[in-house]
Amino acid sequence: MLKWLGEKDPAKLEELFLEARACAVRHVGPKVYFRGLIEFSNHCVKDCYYCGIRKSNAYVTRFSMEESEILQCAMAAQEMDYGSIVLQSGERQDEDYVRFIETILRKIKAATSRSGKLRSQKTGAWRVSDRISRPSDCSCGLINNSTLAPYS
Ligand code: SF4
Repeated sequence: MLKWLGEKDPAKLEELFLEARACAVRHVGPKVYFRGLIEFSNHCVKDCYYCGIRKSNAYVTRFSMEESEILQCAMAAQEMDYGSIVLQSGERQDEDYVRFIETILRKIKAATSRSGKLRSQKTGAWRVSDRISRPSDCSCGLINNSTLAPYS
């Protein structure tokens, strides 16, 4: 790996890029799918030492997007034909937060379904179909996300 990172020979680099491309096509095909990540808050109740947004890091400027801003991002992703979107934040487990997520997921589902494009949604922590079920066990904000995937 270190050898490749320092490689300067254009012919060898071209060979590497061609092999990388062939590998990608072999495993995921020739298409490129755009995925939208909506990082809507960096508030977190956990304190994982390796993580920049851990609660004890006083140097972080905290933010939380408004419901309307998240909805706007979701709609923009749909307009731009993204394959899916992910809502991601730090870890919170309080009722207000859970309600907020449920509400926004319902609104995204309603708004995107109206256009007939979003047929179903699958989530990591929350499942959004006809009803929303809450996450049962989620220990990290980095996986505390919800994926909304339109069928193409
Ligand atoms: S739970 Fe996730 S977001 Fe929170 S501090 Fe740990 S790694 Fe970071």
